[in-house]
Amino acid sequence: MSSIETRIRTTREHILEVAGKCGRSNEVKLLAVSKTKPVEMIREAWECGQRDFGENYVQESVDKIAELSDLEGIVWHFIGPIQSNKSRPVAENFDWVHSIDRLKIARRLSEQRPNNMTPLNICLQVNIDNESTKSGFTANEVLAAAKEIVALKGVKLRGLMAIPAPSEGHEQQRRPFKAIRALMDRLKIQFPEQQLDTLSMGTTGDMGAAIEEGATIVRIGTALFGARDYSKA
Ligand SMILES: *Cc1c(COP(=O)(O)O)cnc(C)c1O
Repeated sequence: MSSIETRIRTTREHILEVAGKCGRSNEVKLLAVSKTKPVEMIREAWECGQRDFGENYVQESVDKIAELSDLEGIVWHFIGPIQSNKSRPVAENFDWVHSIDRLKIARRLSEQRPNNMTPLNICLQVNIDNESTKSGFTANEVLAAAKEIVALKGVKLRGLMAIPAPSEGHEQQRRPFKAIRALMDRLKIQFPEQQLDTLSMGTTGDMGAAIEEGATIVRIGTALFGARDYSKA
């Protein structure tokens, strides 16, 4: 077995094991975060049955999507910050955007989504630690933002995404995820007619804690593709 095949298998087993322990088998999706990694690795992961891939940089990802257009059933998720002057290629090339951090971006993506494509699935990024350096809506802003976003035609609100500040202990890791989950519950009550089924949270270092708190998509890069070398990016 290739190392990617082994890593995908091990990661899937880990997800199933944690999810199973909380009685939530089969509802946690593995998003393979392939930023900075070559298309050959993505192709190899696809051959192992992986379908969902996450990218962070607009130009890099648009080039890769074009090169890999022969891979049937592949689903592309944008998970990085979006400058408003770079939103169009995201609207035209992706299936999902997890990193909606302000209303302006949601409005632009909605306007720029081509009419012949299904609405772009989006998650609101929540700045759960209220860190001034981090992007995203604060917990207090989410409900008002969602109210405007559900009225947009070119995007479909699916849930929330968070990147908590790194922390070591398992209980410490669970705390911000629990807060996101609580916010998601409020969102669902407020908008019962929306298909709010997505909690995008958990990376290589904290996926166990995230799944325990209800993650439905975990975004995993390092565990699948190895450490990233930014000097070459
Ligand atoms: C890079 C990235 C990941 C993957 O992180 P790993 O620690 O490599 O698993 C997940 N989410 C976001 C938003 C990222 O930018």
